[in-house]
Amino acid sequence: MVGVAETGHAAPKKVLVVTVTKGFRHSSIPTAEKILGQLAQQSGVFEVDYVRNDAEMAQKMTAEALNKYDGVIFANTTGDLPLPDKRAFLDWISSGKGFIGMHSATDTFRGHKPLDPYVEMIGGEFKSHDAVQPEVDCINQDKSHPACKDLPEIFHLKDEIYLLNGFDRSKVHGLLFLNKRPNSDTPGDYPIAWCKEYGKGRVFYTSLGHREDVWDPNTPEDFKRENSKDVSELYQKHILGGIKWALGLEKGDAKPQAAAPR
Ligand SMILES: [Zn+2]
Repeated sequence: MVGVAETGHAAPKKVLVVTVTKGFRHSSIPTAEKILGQLAQQSGVFEVDYVRNDAEMAQKMTAEALNKYDGVIFANTTGDLPLPDKRAFLDWISSGKGFIGMHSATDTFRGHKPLDPYVEMIGGEFKSHDAVQPEVDCINQDKSHPACKDLPEIFHLKDEIYLLNGFDRSKVHGLLFLNKRPNSDTPGDYPIAWCKEYGKGRVFYTSLGHREDVWDPNTPEDFKRENSKDVSELYQKHILGGIKWALGLEKGDAKPQAAAPR
């Protein structure tokens, strides 16, 4: 499938990459920033601008400033971010923009009662995690979706797996899930990646992306690599597909599946 932008006639979409943290700060953030810049450049379908600190957030994420952009990527953000106007930000997404979140994007605005409207937008919030799981088998739920079309039936990797609060399968289109509890054989439904509509906007989230070697086939020398380069290449295809889908560049189903996963 070739997206409109890949014909070379459309201008690249403008995307803000947000990596501000108010809680835990992942060591993989510089890697994530680098890889997202590379994916933008190599694909040619989007351009990135970064929001790395409070001052940049105050400047680039006002209701007015957001109008210059087509989408936003929350790459391992955490905590209650100092958005200039959170309601205006959510309204901007629902007006037809794209929201893409990786890993701790669900550890952002979490722990509030009732659930923060950001959590309703993204589709769930981080509750807890066990130890990094050496053998994760993510089941591919939609081989025809841009975020999953390049992944095998089972995407096998090592990463930290989140348990979630506030997730409702009837409100999302499932993309990846585990059919047993992380680090155990207890059967269950553990969502990993999904997409959904949010007003006229599109939301893509994957909880994968804790480790540097999930993002990057060329990790720094001091990083003890435990995922194969194939894993990073598949992860990059997964997120690039999700980005293209959220930006409206490639089509994919966003309807909740009729039946619960196996
Ligand atoms: Zn993590």
